[in-house]
Amino acid sequence: MQPFGGTKLVCGYYLPDFLDRHCRLSVTLKISNFYMKITEHIQKAERTLVSFEVLPPLKGKTITTLYDHLDPLMEFSPSWINVTYHRSETMFKKKVDGTFEKIEVRKRPGTVGICAAIMNHYRVDAVPHIICGGFTKRETEDALIDLDFLGIDNVLVLRGDAPKNETAFEPEKNGNHYAIDLLQQVTNMNHGIYLDEDIKSGGKTNFCSGVAGYPEKHFEAPNLEIDLQKLKQKVDAGAEYIMTQMFFDNQKFFDFAKACKEIGINVPIIPGLKPITNKKQLSVLPRIFHVDIPTDLSNAIMKCKTDQECEQVGTEWLVQQSKELKNAGVPVLHYYTLGKPKVIWNVVKQVM
Ligand SMILES: Cc1cc2nc3c(=O)[nH]c(=O)nc-3n(C[C@H](O)[C@H](O)[C@H](O)COP(=O)(O)OP(=O)(O)OC[C@H]3O[C@@H](n4cnc5c(N)ncnc54)[C@H](O)[C@@H]3O)c2cc1C
Repeated sequence: MQPFGGTKLVCGYYLPDFLDRHCRLSVTLKISNFYMKITEHIQKAERTLVSFEVLPPLKGKTITTLYDHLDPLMEFSPSWINVTYHRSETMFKKKVDGTFEKIEVRKRPGTVGICAAIMNHYRVDAVPHIICGGFTKRETEDALIDLDFLGIDNVLVLRGDAPKNETAFEPEKNGNHYAIDLLQQVTNMNHGIYLDEDIKSGGKTNFCSGVAGYPEKHFEAPNLEIDLQKLKQKVDAGAEYIMTQMFFDNQKFFDFAKACKEIGINVPIIPGLKPITNKKQLSVLPRIFHVDIPTDLSNAIMKCKTDQECEQVGTEWLVQQSKELKNAGVPVLHYYTLGKPKVIWNVVKQVM
């Protein structure tokens, strides 16, 4: 029996009929700390928060692969879980006649489904990464409508990179070029403005958008100053927080946060953190992510005889980094788990 008249059972709680969807969700969140915007998580926090980032499983793997990865990390009650998006890759498949056929392959599909599964399974907010690359604006609009229907109100808005076999990023015809253009599309939908001009007063979405920031500069930007100006433009266009690229020297993060403040960027800046776990990463990470490895860390890793030793050095480094950032008052420690949940578990256990 319902405890009071005119109520509905929503997410396990009885709530009055007259509440609209978002209002109902916000009542629910007061009870469960779930279905909140990233900015609300940060505002309500009484301690440093922790969040994790996962990759969708490779095609052919099931959702349990992801749950196996996340299960141990849920011990730390992460405030949310980010899910990366991977655009399709162009491949050349050999045909029986010896010629090659060009095919588009998506190795890690299903970001929207995975976010819904995570929210349903763990009762924790999921943050899908949405990118410009490979999407027309209309396809993006449809994806955002799906997210809105699912009650996924957080998105990390990104441009994406060029496909592996191309040198420069090219937007789709009728697609968004820069992250700021995609952000504008999200903001428009939050105001009930859709691409279809026939929709006169569309339903307003309720997205909280984050954007990427680069303590060591985005690799295409001519200098950090111009990169920061572009970042400020994203914040002025509606980004409510910044999540950073990984870095291994906290001073770079502190300098970046200071420079942001000096040019009037006042939204929360969330440090993105990743452990080094093998020698190969000393060259791979700078090449792919355009980040520096401090000499002390690279020397220590070079001395290691096994991957296990490297993992130990990388773990200790990340623990120290995390403790220093926590003491400096960052709102959240965001960990890129990328196939290394045990290492991240070890780090967070020592930090939180
Ligand atoms: C936290 C984080 C998560 C990420 N997750 C993913 C992911 O899930 N999937 C994925 O594919 N990639 C991901 N990336 C990588 C990201 O897509 C790339 O770094 C990409 O090259 C840039 O994306 P952006 O959103 O920073 O682009 P933008 O903000 O658009 O900037 C790209 C470059 O263009 C410049 N620029 C910006 N606006 C303008 C303008 N109007 N005119 C001229 N120049 C301009 C900037 O200075 C910068 O050099 C992530 C990066 C970070 C930091």
